[in-house]
Amino acid sequence: MPYENRPSSDRPSKDRPYDKSEPERASGLVIEEKIIRAVLSGRIAPGERFGEKEVGEIFGVSRTMVREAMIRLSSRGLVDVTPRRGWFVIEPSVAEAREVIEARRAVESGLILDHGLVGAEAIARLRSHLHAQESALAGQDLARRSYLLGHFHVHIADVLGNSVIATILENLTARTVLIAALYQSDEDAQHSCQDHAALIEAMERGDRDEALRITRDHLIHLEKALRNRARSNRHDRLHEAFAESRD
Ligand SMILES: [Zn+2]
Repeated sequence: MPYENRPSSDRPSKDRPYDKSEPERASGLVIEEKIIRAVLSGRIAPGERFGEKEVGEIFGVSRTMVREAMIRLSSRGLVDVTPRRGWFVIEPSVAEAREVIEARRAVESGLILDHGLVGAEAIARLRSHLHAQESALAGQDLARRSYLLGHFHVHIADVLGNSVIATILENLTARTVLIAALYQSDEDAQHSCQDHAALIEAMERGDRDEALRITRDHLIHLEKALRNRARSNRHDRLHEAFAESRD
């Protein structure tokens, strides 16, 4: 479910502690957050598998609750499931991300080409999504930041009234959320958000050529940023691994 459509009680935060009357549900959210942090901090490697029973024992909760947490994580593009071998952290490769971004470029350019002047209500909806992205950029939740930055593109299709394209983009962006969460720097994320603001302005002016240019450059930049970052992250990880093994 997209973030902005979720009830505000759906996610824990410092300002909004867990509702004590719903301990079961709160435990589910704690598991979800713990797994996300473990993945984003690199303590759980992409590709690693989880048994529902095993995770349930660790947290002292039922398998059902673990399964619910995993289903939410899978809707965020962080884990997937195979019938026999259970849940695993999605292992994004840079090559896959490149193909996905190429597909997005084709779909999103086509969508922009088909729309000239965009109505005031649609622009307002795009701006309100942009504000959510900006507050995520100011916060610490990397998973939320990556999710919202990716989801903006799905939102454009929604706002322009094409639910088929929105579904296609939902699939495509889900596959880049984890790679973005793992590899996107703060500067890259900031840059993405600025592109989104410029795109909304071009759409508001009815400047289709400029909107098209921004869309194409945006995705080319995203791909380059992820590729460079993946390289340097691998170097950092090797560096850390060897540094640790020395002491
Ligand atoms: Zn974007």
